[in-house]
Amino acid sequence: MHNQPANITDSFGRVHDYLRISLTERCNLRCFYCMPEEGIPLREKSEFMSAEETLHIANTFVKLGIKKIRLTGGEPLIKKNIASLIHELAKLPVELAITTNGILVDQYIDDFKKANLRSINVSLDSLNQANFEKISRRNYFTRIVNNIDLLVREGFNTKVNVVVMRGVNDHEIVDFVEWTQRKNIQVRFIEFMPFDGNKWNWDKKVSYREILQLVHTAFGESNVESLVQKPNDTSKNFRIKNAAGNFGIIASVTNPFCDTCNRIRLTADGKIKNCLFSQSETDLLFALRDGQDISGLILESIAAKKKARGGVDSFENPENLKLLASNRTMTTIGG
Ligand code: SAM
Ligand code: SF4
Repeated sequence: MHNQPANITDSFGRVHDYLRISLTERCNLRCFYCMPEEGIPLREKSEFMSAEETLHIANTFVKLGIKKIRLTGGEPLIKKNIASLIHELAKLPVELAITTNGILVDQYIDDFKKANLRSINVSLDSLNQANFEKISRRNYFTRIVNNIDLLVREGFNTKVNVVVMRGVNDHEIVDFVEWTQRKNIQVRFIEFMPFDGNKWNWDKKVSYREILQLVHTAFGESNVESLVQKPNDTSKNFRIKNAAGNFGIIASVTNPFCDTCNRIRLTADGKIKNCLFSQSETDLLFALRDGQDISGLILESIAAKKKARGGVDSFENPENLKLLASNRTMTTIGG
């Protein structure tokens, strides 16, 4: 028997204590950069983790040193048993969080409170109803905005994720920042990333530098304060002087944060991805059903993690883009 280390560490000394669990590949929106219009092909239920298997695997991760679990998807809140799963996960000694498109937040807000789940990321790519409907191909705009208001009123730590795309919503960056002046939220601008079939190209990406430049021009550089960075923050954060909220920029494409990465992703079909961009996966669900030791597999998977972006050195190299085009979509990885 080998002595298990007290934590999950890769060969570069990075301690991994943050697990993102995708609960489903399916979604009630069809954001064009994430999901095909017709949805994703249906698969047998048995190919996915049951609630018991999800809990078992989560528990194993926690014993290995995971301190934070974020539920994601697809859309985690469309899972039928989501309330009981949140309730059970809340018994683990971890900080629990969720990333959602916000549509069903009002239905589950009491469950969040009971589980002490206080940190909620809601995705909203436009403040304009017609534009939101064009991006998401569904008409839930008012419901989502009302649910963001509800979360803020109820004192949740509310972040709003905005994937910035040139010619799609980049003209709304200043509107989003103005929103943070009035509302106690953190808006996080995310650089558009390449995945299977989402027609990514350099021209659609709006870089960290451009976003900040736009904000400086609109509000005056001296009114934009830098906020202190926490060790594993993926966003660089700022506040307009005297604003109720703040905003951040996640520069996964132009300035990745791999050096301080502490994340592990578990897909809804029970596979570990040791990096969002990694080409290989470790099948924990198969191993669990086969009676194998999944702790050992978890440690091996993270030990094999590449230094940066799953071994992809730069997105500017066309060969690398081809490689990434074969990666799963965000909705099947769990964003
Ligand atoms: N359905 C939930 C939601 O939308 O928040 C959770 C899953 S979603 C895949 C998680 C996050 O990934 C969202 O904020 C979404 O905007 C982001 N995302 C999806 N595809 C992306 C891409 N190609 N580039 C950057 N972010 C992306
Ligand atoms: Fe659904 Fe989230 Fe993907 Fe939009 S980004 S299609 S809400 S999973």
